Amino acid sequence: MRLSNQLMLASLNRHKFEEFQALLSVYPEVTLIPVGQMIRNPEGLARVEGHSSYLENAAAKARIANQGCHYPALGDDSGLEVRALQGRPGVRSHRYASPKPHQSQDQVNVELLLSEMQGQQDRAALFTCTLALVIEGILVHATGTLEGTITDSPRGVHGFGYDPIFVPTGKTQTLAEMTASEKNQISHRCKAIHSLMAQIKSHGLVFAKP
Ligand code: IMP
Repeated sequence: MRLSNQLMLASLNRHKFEEFQALLSVYPEVTLIPVGQMIRNPEGLARVEGHSSYLENAAAKARIANQGCHYPALGDDSGLEVRALQGRPGVRSHRYASPKPHQSQDQVNVELLLSEMQGQQDRAALFTCTLALVIEGILVHATGTLEGTITDSPRGVHGFGYDPIFVPTGKTQTLAEMTASEKNQISHRCKAIHSLMAQIKSHGLVFAKP
């Protein structure tokens, strides 16, 4: 089945858009388009995050976007799982410190996480990204993860979310101290998108210009 070469990202997060745009640059057959340009009420996407799994959230976002304009839609749901906190904040990562996200949400999330981790010896954590592609009732999905540890204090100015307090295993810098391209070579989002593109191909789906 031929898919439109225009793939709509079902997310209002501009950091995610930039990361996906860079990650998809190795697939010239795909052009990523922002959902805000394509559907009438993209704000509705922010309300679908109430499910208990990344996959349900990612698929719900993609379905809303696909119903709004019939382009193939890519939903992303991601989060940080901290072992000493029994996997929290996990699927609730975005709304961790405040159920109504606001402009400084990333900062308050980081502050709350660091306060919960104070004095904690076990700093192990895992980023997870689940992606769902929805087109005409078809759902293809993939997940990528990145292991690492939580620092004692934030470091770095790049990226978003919990990047300033996460050091990937085998590295010394936080994700926020790395350049965008360094993060994109190892990130959970990078692993998920390449796995998804392979699965799309194995389902016989082909991105192509109309
Ligand atoms: P959602 O996928 O929109 O529910 O948001 C996931 C939340 O997890 C983000 O708001 C961030 O707080 C966090 N998160 C997901 N991916 C990353 C990442 O690559 N770096 C830092 N934080 C992330």
